[in-house]
Amino acid sequence: MSWVVEGTSPFQGQTAAAMAVRLCSSLQRSLCKKRGRFTEWRHESLSKHFYQTAAPQTASALYTQEHQAIRESLRKIIDTEINPYVDKWEEAEQFPAHQIFKILGQAGILGVSHPTEYGGSGLDFSYTIAVAEELGNIRCGGVPMAIGMQSSMATPALSRFGSDELKRQFLAPTVAGDVVACLGVSEAGAGSDVANIKTNAVKKGDDYIINGSKMWITNGCQADWMCLLTNTSTGASHKNKSLICLPMKSPGVQITKKIKKIGMKSSDTAQIFFEDVRVPSKYLIGEEGMGFLYQMLQFQEERMWGVASVLSQMENVIQETVNYTSQRKIFNQPVLNNQVVHFRLAELTTEVELLRSLLHRTVGLYIDGNDVTKLASMAKLKAGRLVREVSDSCLQYWGGMGFTDEVNVSRFYRDSRLLSIGGGADEVMLAIICKYMGILPTKK
Ligand SMILES: Cc1cc2nc3c(=O)[nH]c(=O)nc-3n(C[C@H](O)[C@H](O)[C@H](O)COP(=O)(O)OP(=O)(O)OC[C@H]3O[C@@H](n4cnc5c(N)ncnc54)[C@H](O)[C@@H]3O)c2cc1C
Repeated sequence: MSWVVEGTSPFQGQTAAAMAVRLCSSLQRSLCKKRGRFTEWRHESLSKHFYQTAAPQTASALYTQEHQAIRESLRKIIDTEINPYVDKWEEAEQFPAHQIFKILGQAGILGVSHPTEYGGSGLDFSYTIAVAEELGNIRCGGVPMAIGMQSSMATPALSRFGSDELKRQFLAPTVAGDVVACLGVSEAGAGSDVANIKTNAVKKGDDYIINGSKMWITNGCQADWMCLLTNTSTGASHKNKSLICLPMKSPGVQITKKIKKIGMKSSDTAQIFFEDVRVPSKYLIGEEGMGFLYQMLQFQEERMWGVASVLSQMENVIQETVNYTSQRKIFNQPVLNNQVVHFRLAELTTEVELLRSLLHRTVGLYIDGNDVTKLASMAKLKAGRLVREVSDSCLQYWGGMGFTDEVNVSRFYRDSRLLSIGGGADEVMLAIICKYMGILPTKK
C-alpha cells in the first residue's frame, strides 16, 4: 500500500517513497553546504511544510563531506601503516610512537582543531571527534589512546592558554608529529581526587624547581615533553595548581617503571619521579594558579574524545560477532539464529547509536560555546558501561574462541575495561552529574 500526500505541499500527489527520496537528497544537499547544522536547512522551503521544529541531530548532521574526507584519508593510513603491525606492537607492549606520529602529523591528523599558526587545521572540535571515531578502526585500544593523548588530551590547554613562544616550542612540533607528548595529572595517591596531588613546583629566580611523581602516564616511556599538573602554592587546592610544559630529558626526571597491564598493551604506561627538576618559569601554561581549572576544561575534550574512539570499535566487534555466529553452527543451526543472540546484538547496536547521538549533540553544543560538563560526563559514563556490555556479550557468543588471544573481541574485552576507570572513573562521572542535578550532598 502506498501513502499519497494531499494538500498544498510541494509533494502533493507523490507517493511517500518518492517524497522521502526527494526530501533526503534535499536534506543532504543543504547539510553538505557547510557544517550541516539544522539551523541551515531549517530555512529551506521544503521543511517549512513538514516540520514545526528542528529535527534531532544525527551523525550526518554533525559530519559533512569534509569530515568524511578526513576520515577516509586517515582510514588509508590505518589500513597500511597501523593495522598490519598492531599484533606485533601488542606483543612488544609498545608501539613506535615517533614513527607513527610523524606519519599522522604529515597527514594533518594530529592537529585538526589546533590553530593554523602552529601547524593545525583550525577546524572546530567536531573534526577532532570525527578523527577519534575513525581511529576506532585501529584493531586495538592502545594505539588510538596514545594518538588521542598527543592530539587531544595533553595539548588543548596549551593550545588555548599557552603563550605564542610556548606554542611554537611545544605545540607546533607535537602537531607535526616530531615529538611525543604525555599528560601528567594522576599520582599514586591521587587519581580520582585530582585536587589532592602532591607534586610541587617552587619558583627560584626565573625557574621552577619540581619535586614529586606521576603515575599511569600514557606515552610516558617515549614522551619528549609532559603537560604537568603541579602545585605551585600552598593555597586552596583548586587555586594552587598550574600546568607546566616539562621537557622529559630534563635532569632529575626518572622513568622508574613501565607498568604491566591487562590491556591497552601497545600503549606504554609509566611511573615517573621528579627530583629537583629545573624548568624555566616561562614554560608555565597561561596563568599560575589556574591549572586545576585548565585541566578540568582539558578533561572535557578528553572525555568526549574517549567516547568517540569506542563507537567504531563497538560496531566492529558487533559486526565481527554477527559474521562469526552466522557461520558457526551448533545444534544444526547458526548461533546467530537463536533469538536471544540476534536480539541482543540488535539491542547493543541500538545502544551504540544512542550513545553516538548523545555525543554528537554534546559536541554540537560544545562547538557553540556551551558548558557541556553534564552531557560529556553522561556520555563518558554511558560509554564506559556500554563497552563492558558489548565486549562481554559478544565474547560470550564466540565461545572458547572468545577466550583466546587470536580474536579481536578478547582484546576489546581487555582494552575497553579502562574506560570506566581512566580519565575520571564512572563514580566520578556520577558525582559530576549529581552536582549538576543539585543532588550531591555537600561535605561539612
Ligand atoms: C592504562 C592507564 C592509562 C592512564 N593514563 C593516564 C595519563 O596519561 N595521565 C594521567 O594523568 N593519568 C592516567 N591514568 C590514570 C587514570 O586517570 C586514573 O587511574 C583514574 O583517574 C582513577 O584513579 P586511581 O587509579 O587512582 O583510582 P582511585 O582514585 O583510587 O579510585 C578507585 C576507585 O574508587 C572509585 N571511586 C572514585 N571516586 C569515587 C566516588 N566519589 N564515590 C565512589 N567511588 C569512587 C572508582 O570505582 C575508582 O575506580 C591512566 C590509568 C590507566 C590505568
